[in-house]
Amino acid sequence: MTLDDLGFSSRAIHAGQEPDPTTGAVVPPIHQVSTYKQDGVGGLRGGYEYSRSANPTRAALEECIAALEGGERGFAFASGLAGEDTVLRALLVPGDHVVVPSDAYGGTYRLFNRVLKPWGADHSIATVADVESVRAAIRPETRMVWVETPTNPLLGIADIAAIAEVTHEAGALLVVDNTFASPYLQNPIALGADVVVHSTTKYAGGHSDVVGGAVVVAPGARTRDGESVTERVAFHQNSMGAVAGPFDAWLVLRGLKTLAVRMERHCDNAETVVDFLQSHPGVTAVHYPGLPNHPNHDIAARQMKRFGGMVAFRVKGGEDVAAKVCGETELWTLGESLGGVESLIEHPGRMTHASVAGTELEVPGDLIRLSVGIEDAPDLIADLRQALDRLT
Ligand SMILES: *Cc1c(COP(=O)(O)O)cnc(C)c1O
Repeated sequence: MTLDDLGFSSRAIHAGQEPDPTTGAVVPPIHQVSTYKQDGVGGLRGGYEYSRSANPTRAALEECIAALEGGERGFAFASGLAGEDTVLRALLVPGDHVVVPSDAYGGTYRLFNRVLKPWGADHSIATVADVESVRAAIRPETRMVWVETPTNPLLGIADIAAIAEVTHEAGALLVVDNTFASPYLQNPIALGADVVVHSTTKYAGGHSDVVGGAVVVAPGARTRDGESVTERVAFHQNSMGAVAGPFDAWLVLRGLKTLAVRMERHCDNAETVVDFLQSHPGVTAVHYPGLPNHPNHDIAARQMKRFGGMVAFRVKGGEDVAAKVCGETELWTLGESLGGVESLIEHPGRMTHASVAGTELEVPGDLIRLSVGIEDAPDLIADLRQALDRLT
C-alpha cells in the first residue's frame, strides 16, 4: 500500500509517522534537541545536523501535511504569518507585484501593506470572488496572486481553478491560504495552486493550544526563471529560521489525526447554527458558502467537500449592538482565532480586522464572526438565542 492509495484520515494518521525505529513508539517522539552527534565530520545520522535546518518531529509534520495537501514537500513554521513571510521572500524580489484579496486575513494584509511594500514589493487589491477582478489587477510585473478561500471574515469564495488559469497565463504563481477550509475540505493544489499556506493554529492544530504555520508546494512548481519553488522555500526556511519548534510540531501532528472527524462535526454544527440565524428576526444577513443564495455557492460546492465551520452574520442595530452581542454569550467565548474545538465569537471590525479600519479592506461594523466548535448544537443555539433575543 502506498500513501497515495490511502484515504484522508489514513494519511493523517500515518504519513510521516512510522513507528519509532529504536523503541517502536507509535507516536513520533518530541525530539527536543538542537544538535546531533556526527559519526566523523559530515557523517550525519539520518541527515540531521542542526534543528533549524531539520528536526525529526518537525519532519514528521512536514511529511504529513504534504501528504494531506497532495504536495511535493511541506514546511512547518512558528506561525502562519512566519510561513507566509518566508514564501513571499522566497518567491519575490523588490520590484515585483502581488495581487491580494480584498478581504484577506487582517494580519496577512498588514504583512503585504506594511512589511512587503516598504521592502519593495507592491500589491493591488482584487475581489477574488470575481475572476475578472483578479485579471484586471494583474500587471506586467505581477509574479504572484494570493488567494484566500473561503475569505475572512465575509466567507467569500474564490474559484481556485479559474484563478489558477489566469495566474499562469500571466506567468505568475498562485498561492492559496487554505486555513479556513483545512486540507480535509479543500485541496488547492489539485485545482492548480502552486503553493498552499496554512495557519496551523486553526483547524490543523484544532485545540487552541498552539501557534503554527505550514507551507506545501505543488509537485513540479517552478518560478518564472525555472527554479524549483520547493528548493527556494527550503532555502528560505533555513535562512530565515522561522521554524516550528518540536513540541509545537508535535501538537499540530496530533491535531491532524482527528481533523476529519472534527471537520465533519464543525460542518454539522455550522449548518444548524446557520438555520437558526436565518430564522432570527434580529439577523439581517448570514454569510455561509453552504447557503444556496451565497453568490458563489456553486463554486464552493464544486471545490469543497463541505462548507466549513466559519459563519458570519450581520445584526439589526449596527456596530454597537454587534459588539454587545459578542460580549453577552456564555458558551461562545469572546475571542480572536478560530478552528478550535470550542466555539468562538468575535467582532471583526474592532478585533481581528481592527488593523484594516480606514483602509480599502474595512469590514462592516454590524458583522459578527463565529468559529463554530464541536460542542452540542442545541447548547450553542440556546446561548446565541439568549444574546440575540435581548439585544437585537
Ligand atoms: C490566523 C490566520 C493567519 C495567520 O496565522 P498565525 O498562525 O496567526 O500567524 C493567516 N491566514 C488566515 C486565514 C488566518 O486565519
